[in-house]
This record gives sequence, C-alpha cells and structure tokens, in this order.
Amino acid sequence: MTAELSQKHPRGLYVLFFAEMWERFSYYGMRAILLLFLIDQVNGGMGLNASEGAAIYGLYTASVYLLTLPGGWMADNILGQKKAIWYGGIIIMIGHIILAIPGGTSIFFVGLATVALGTGLLKPNISSIVGELYPEGGARRDAAFSIFYMGINLGSVLGITIVGYLGQKINWHMGFGAAAVGMLLGLIVFRYGSQKYLQGLGDVPPSKIETAETIAKSGSDRKMGYGLVALLVVFLATLQLTGTIDMTTAQGLAQGAGVIIVSVSAFYFLFILVAGGLTPEEKKRVLVLIVFFLAAALFWSGFEQAGSSLQIFAERHTQRTFGGWEMPSSWFQNFNGTFILIFAPVMASLWIFLSSKGLNPSTPVKFALGLILLGVGFFVMELAAKVAVTGELTSPIFLTLTYLFHTIGELCLSPVGLSSYTKLAPKRYVSQLMGIWFVAASLGNLIAGLFAGNFDENNVQQMPALFNQVTLFSIGFGLLLLVFWKPVKKWMGGIS
Ligand code: GLN
Repeated sequence: MTAELSQKHPRGLYVLFFAEMWERFSYYGMRAILLLFLIDQVNGGMGLNASEGAAIYGLYTASVYLLTLPGGWMADNILGQKKAIWYGGIIIMIGHIILAIPGGTSIFFVGLATVALGTGLLKPNISSIVGELYPEGGARRDAAFSIFYMGINLGSVLGITIVGYLGQKINWHMGFGAAAVGMLLGLIVFRYGSQKYLQGLGDVPPSKIETAETIAKSGSDRKMGYGLVALLVVFLATLQLTGTIDMTTAQGLAQGAGVIIVSVSAFYFLFILVAGGLTPEEKKRVLVLIVFFLAAALFWSGFEQAGSSLQIFAERHTQRTFGGWEMPSSWFQNFNGTFILIFAPVMASLWIFLSSKGLNPSTPVKFALGLILLGVGFFVMELAAKVAVTGELTSPIFLTLTYLFHTIGELCLSPVGLSSYTKLAPKRYVSQLMGIWFVAASLGNLIAGLFAGNFDENNVQQMPALFNQVTLFSIGFGLLLLVFWKPVKKWMGGIS
C-alpha cells in the first residue's frame, strides 16, 4: 500500500521525510533516556532527585515545541524554510556532539539547550515546506502528511530503541552522541536532495516577496515580535516580584513556562487578528486555526501522558513478565510509533478512498474523532486502574488497547492538523503559524507532565478518577466539535 501511495508523490517528500526522521530520532531518543540520566546516581548520571528531574524533563519537551514559534518566525522573515532547516539540523548535530562529551552539568545543559534551539528552527519549517509541495491542497496533501508522519515515527521508534539501548546499556553519552551521526546523514541527504527535488521552494522568506500586503505587514510583524517579548518579560517579572510564582524552583519554572506558553499563544493570535493586516476571509481562517489549536492542546495533554502517567502505570501496575522474561516498561512507548507505521498508510488510503466517493469527513470532524478516540483510550485506562487499585497487576492488553485508540486518534488529528495549518494559514505567516501548532504540543506536554504529578504511589486509589477526568474532557470537547463542525467548516471558506 505504501508503494502504491509513494508512486504518486514527488521525490521532495522523501527528502523531507528522511531529514525529519533523523530530527525525530534525536528528539525521541533524547526523551527516552533524559529522565533516566538525570536521576541516575550510580552509572554516571546526574543524580538529581525525581521531582527536579521530572521538572527538567517537562521543561525540555515543552521548550523544544515552544521554540518552534521563533523558529517559524525566522523562516518567514529572515531565512526562508530551506536555510532554517539546514541551520537547524547543523545546530542539532552540534548539540549532540556537545552532549556526547562527559563534561559535567553545565556542558550537559549547554548541549541540551543547543539541541532544543536547533529543533525549534527545523521542525515547523520542514512541515510547512511539505505543504508547499502540494499547491493544490486537498486530500493528496493530507495523504502526503500521513506519509511524512511515518518518517516522524520511524525516527521515533529507531531513536527510542537505539538511543535507549546505547544510553542504558553502554554509556549515557554514547546514547546522546548517536543522534549526531543520524542528523549528519539527514543533512547530507537534505543538502543534495533539496537542490534537486525542492527547487524553488522555501528559498526566499515569504515576507521578502514584495507585494503591497507584505510591505504593509513587515513593519507590524517585526513590532509584534519585539512587543510580545517585552510584554512577556514585564509580565513574568511582575509574577516573580509579587511572589505569585517562584521561578527559582523547578516547579515554579514549570509554572512560569505554562504562563509563557498560554500568554504567547493568546497574544500571538490576538495580534495577528488585530494587526496582521488580514482580509476578512483570512481572519475567519485564523479563527478556525484557534479552534484547532485548542483541540490540539487538549489532545496532546492527554496523549503525551504516554511519557508520564501511562509510563508510570506500565512500570508499577502492568503485568510485563512473559515466561520468565520481563519487558522493560519503556517499551510500551514504542507501541505508538509501531502502530503509526502500520496504520498511517491505511488511514491515508482511507481518506483518499472516502474523498473519491465524496465522503471524506471534514477536518473539524476528524479532530472530533481524534478527541473521542483519545477519550475511549482513557476509558480503557480507567477500567485498568479499577483492577490496579485492588493491588493486582493488570493485563498488558489494557495499555495495548489504549495505545491503539490513541494512535488512531492521533492519525485523525495530527497529520490532518499539520496539513490544514499549511492550507489555512495566510501564506506570509505559514511557518510561524506552523510554530503555533507545535506550541499546542508544548502546552500539552507540560500539562501531561504536571498531571502525572498526581500519580503518587501513596495515592493509588485516585487513579480511576484521574483517568475518568481525562476521558470526560476529551470526549466532551470532541462532541462539542461534532455539534459545531458546520460553522467551523464554513469559516474555512472552501478549503478542506
Ligand atoms: N508525534 C508527532 C511528532 O513528533 C507529534 C508531536 C506533537 O505535535 N505533539 O511530530
């Protein structure tokens, strides 16, 4: 089925697929061993306590996605997507080389910050250039994003497996360094492949293509960037000085990050609506992007619990011994990537098949389905938690089913969301709005991390109620979207 789909897609898609695969290898590989390394006291780890470690882990995952906003802005205004991807990849590689040096805490954090900066520069721009390969939009662009999504998840499965193995079994720094080799491969292919197969795409930042619109907009856009940063600094300083949050602790820093993420998104959308020089038609589309942003943030705050509460559940309450062999609990995290590799081509073909019959569900309906499936997955967890509170280990079938529901939900929402952000965003804002899409993931990751703080070993009785809350929220929002899908679709103004 993949072969059949691939024949119909431009080669450029596979160049991007390959580069993104190694970027995700870096991200998910890092994610797989970061927390373990931070709290490891005996094998050359950093020896932090669990709560500090978890806060740093949460801050890392949230800031990687938050940095996609300035990364997208840089591409729209200064670099163009191709250069942003190129420099982003180089910065990621340098970050991993620094991390490969066993040089103590400061060097480690410099390396970690470097990787996060590079990822922020690469990630949104590689997604927005995928969209540009398909100027006609439509279901084919959705299908392309499903294929691209397989690259993402191939990188994730390889990263979790290889970096996890090297880091845990051989040496932490060898694990961190592996991604430098991968990123180098991605860069080489991108360098040559993009010259040949991505000609004329992403060379010039959209804001430099002079039209009456962009000239009017460029001044306001720059002011927006500076104004936003200044406002945020004042706002955070006020919160710190009035003692509302204390950003000298890890917990406080995580709260500070939450404030930054929520206010950046709110200010950004407000500014673009009020001062972005948009036509009424474009304004309506940006309103749709806001609805999708909220739905995505909610989705990721449940989904990204794969690395937090679901990981804890796998570790403490799941039967993982098969004929004397104990499966490492982190392997459950690979179920998602594996299911994606199996089901992405199926779903991509399904959308194409349905649209050939005129039955392709509209994007808001797909988002609603994604949220409802997420809720169903958490309902399964609620059932599992009811078994776990009796003190019994639960069958691995529960987590497997949950991951299955979550993955199908993700395939309804995430590649479709990437695709529709590229379609609905005004062209001159496309990469930064792509950044905003990932800011929803940033918020989701942070909430998923903080929520897992409730999964205390002394508080096991609460688990079914906690999972129940997530079920209700996501199914509730999903149903709301199902009820209102028609007006949302109308705002999209003929784009599907
Ligand atoms: N798993 C996807 C990726 O890594 C989606 C992540 C996200 O947007 N939260 O790109």
